[in-house]
Amino acid sequence: MSKDTRPPKSGKWRPQTMMVRGGTTRSEHGETSEALYLNSGFVYESPEEQSARMAGEKPGYIYSRYANPTVRMLEERLALLEGAEDCRATASGMAAIHTMLVAPVKPGDRIVAPRALFSSCVWILKNLMPKMGVEVTWVEGTTDLNEWKRALSKPCRLVLIETPSNPLLDAVDIRAVADLTHAAGGELIVDNVFASPILQRPIELGADWVVYSTTKHMDGQGRTLGGAILGKTKKIEDDLQQYYRHTGPSMSPFNAWIVLKGLETMDLRVRAMSANARKIADRLAGNPKINAVRYPGRTDHPHHNIHAGQMPDGGGSLLAFSIKGGKDAAYAMLNRLNLIDISNNLGDAKSLITHPATTTHRTLTDDERAAIGLDDTWLRLSVGLEDTDDLAEDLEQALRS
Ligand SMILES: *Cc1c(COP(=O)(O)O)cnc(C)c1O
Repeated sequence: MSKDTRPPKSGKWRPQTMMVRGGTTRSEHGETSEALYLNSGFVYESPEEQSARMAGEKPGYIYSRYANPTVRMLEERLALLEGAEDCRATASGMAAIHTMLVAPVKPGDRIVAPRALFSSCVWILKNLMPKMGVEVTWVEGTTDLNEWKRALSKPCRLVLIETPSNPLLDAVDIRAVADLTHAAGGELIVDNVFASPILQRPIELGADWVVYSTTKHMDGQGRTLGGAILGKTKKIEDDLQQYYRHTGPSMSPFNAWIVLKGLETMDLRVRAMSANARKIADRLAGNPKINAVRYPGRTDHPHHNIHAGQMPDGGGSLLAFSIKGGKDAAYAMLNRLNLIDISNNLGDAKSLITHPATTTHRTLTDDERAAIGLDDTWLRLSVGLEDTDDLAEDLEQALRS
């Protein structure tokens, strides 16, 4: 590595510059694009050198399960972008959240979380945490601060929230929950996947940790799985480092390289997708076959004020809508779509739609689905980069038939 193009520690670059250049290190060849170090191991000059590096007495890479130059470029870029001290990239979003929830806890600890979470997170909290002797307290609504106060009136180790949440785009007031979490002696983790770092900045609002699935807007073109954990250097070293190194949730250098290239255009893509989603939401809201549309940027979203306060630049690329006639009407509509694809993925350049009650949220009990207000009339749409007139016409013909 001969040339380091990271900004000075004062970090004066603006976010768009950071997304294109942050964290880049160049080899002696002076390549323009980030190099792909597709190697598992590293060699040493001598056994003394190897021993010193492995003891952490000398800098340098050891093994790609611990760290890799391409993955490190991504971690540094994400940390600069998020305003976090450091980052660890992982093989998937769930590897990030799993590491984040499991590594710091011990038996007797307590985790607080709302029901409105990505369903694999619900699975971990419901099935894995009790096996480890960790108690989980569920918060039923996401916005009732009295309920949050009750849940956080006794000591708690971690709080996990998602805002906007999957699938109905509920809001959690990040600053209010951060304050309550800290008063209970805990740390707040925000799953910021739906907003992305372009539209919402949890650390500035008091969050201790931010987690991502880079699979979504960061790759943004449906190619790779990946995840990231962002937080304070000392916390990462004390609470996550050993778990990360020895259990192997590491990201592949190839995937890190793809995501680095994805980040170069993320600002453009997320803003365009968010503007597109707003147009589609407004157009669907006037459709006679629709009961309701939920979009964080619309004033008729029940949590609009919270969203507007913490996502001032746009409501994001996801919306949900409830269709008259329930599951049969929803399935019939999905079967008539010609352009929009049926998929549970999101944040992609291609618009994707899913019926959460019978797919992503199928494993929840009826009561759990009722607790988050999800019945079988709802569809979740991830709006991509296609022309919004083509998207709206596809939805309208499928609704009309
Ligand atoms: C997709 C997603 C995850 C999980 O990420 P994977 O990369 O699929 O493992 C977690 N949280 C949210 C909000 C997501 O959308």
